[in-house]
Amino acid sequence: MGRKRLVLLGPPGAGKGTQAKMIAVKTGLVHLSTGDILRDEVSRGSQLGQEAKQWMDRGDLVPDKLITDMIEGEISKADGFILDGFPRTITQAKALGEVTPVDIAINIVLSRDDVIKRLSSRRTCRDCGRICNSLFSPPQVDGRCDMCDGELSQRSDDHPGVIRKRFDVYTRQTAPLIDLYRRQGTLQEIDGNLPPEEVLERIMALLVNDCSENSY
Ligand code: ADP
Ligand code: ZN
Repeated sequence: MGRKRLVLLGPPGAGKGTQAKMIAVKTGLVHLSTGDILRDEVSRGSQLGQEAKQWMDRGDLVPDKLITDMIEGEISKADGFILDGFPRTITQAKALGEVTPVDIAINIVLSRDDVIKRLSSRRTCRDCGRICNSLFSPPQVDGRCDMCDGELSQRSDDHPGVIRKRFDVYTRQTAPLIDLYRRQGTLQEIDGNLPPEEVLERIMALLVNDCSENSY
């Protein structure tokens, strides 16, 4: 599956990051998350990080130009990829289309209420990056990661006001991409309320089918 070019769509909290990590392990495809790259830039205090942080903290999108400059090189040098959090605007989708075609866009569907519930209780391990949920899959030891015992932290943008803002931004700026990929004939949809293993299985099935149709 070396060459598959996959885009994950869906609101914040739908499980794009969790799925992308698991798909990457199963397929060897490169996982590119603009959110992770940006958070890394912020924690290193780089010029890009300092600039991006103002938008991220408010739940707004970072300007398209900063994002496309940041990610285009990674995309062109990858032989197949899973894009998670990019593209997020029509402009970004057009920029992507100029660099490479997309084989399959998977929309993980989740309602606004579910998004708010999930994100308010989302925790990330500071050491290994594992994502868990203090409400739906509480860690065995309070505040510690089940995998590595690292400290669990809450993302600075996972607070009620910012979560609602991010969902509104998603609805206005990112949801239109669903139609765009539908028109291109590459869209598939999966219910984000299914258990994560089930979502993964369905994605893997779609990838395999798509591969055989295109005789990869
Ligand atoms: P989530 O999907 O949970 O909202 P991400 O980690 O994908 O979170 O993104 C966090 C923040 O980073 C976004 O709210 C936004 O400010 C910024 N960001 C990430 N990807 C992009 C992108 N493609 N375009 C613009 N801003 C982005
Ligand atoms: Zn951990």
